[in-house]
Amino acid sequence: MRQIKRLFIHCAATSNFKPVPAAEIHQWHLDRGWDGIGYSGVIQPDGEFERGRPDYWVPSQAAGNNADAVGICLIGTDQFTDAAMETLRVVCADYIERYGVSIHGHYEVNPHKTCPGFDVQQWLKETGLCS
Ligand SMILES: [Zn+2]
Repeated sequence: MRQIKRLFIHCAATSNFKPVPAAEIHQWHLDRGWDGIGYSGVIQPDGEFERGRPDYWVPSQAAGNNADAVGICLIGTDQFTDAAMETLRVVCADYIERYGVSIHGHYEVNPHKTCPGFDVQQWLKETGLCS
């Protein structure tokens, strides 16, 4: 098993509040010539969590930052439902418990990105996931 140390939060850059099945993102990423969906998981506006690549498989989600990471994608661009944010909190807590990951926004490793569209470190403090 590879070492998983970081979790990156993404947004899909799709319409806010409109569901996009993980299967559709899988197809987009196949069309890019990737080995299928690049994310480890996807969170729908209704709060449903869909698995992407299994954790043992290196994701394709943050260039140069994949080997020790997993990537979770919120459907939408910069507005997310309370249900989606609650699922994100539960998923992050689960990864922290299982692997001791630190949580980051994609923008933290790529200055050209605003993804996922909110201040992840501030959110972590608000949710109590980090002090
Ligand atoms: Zn991203």
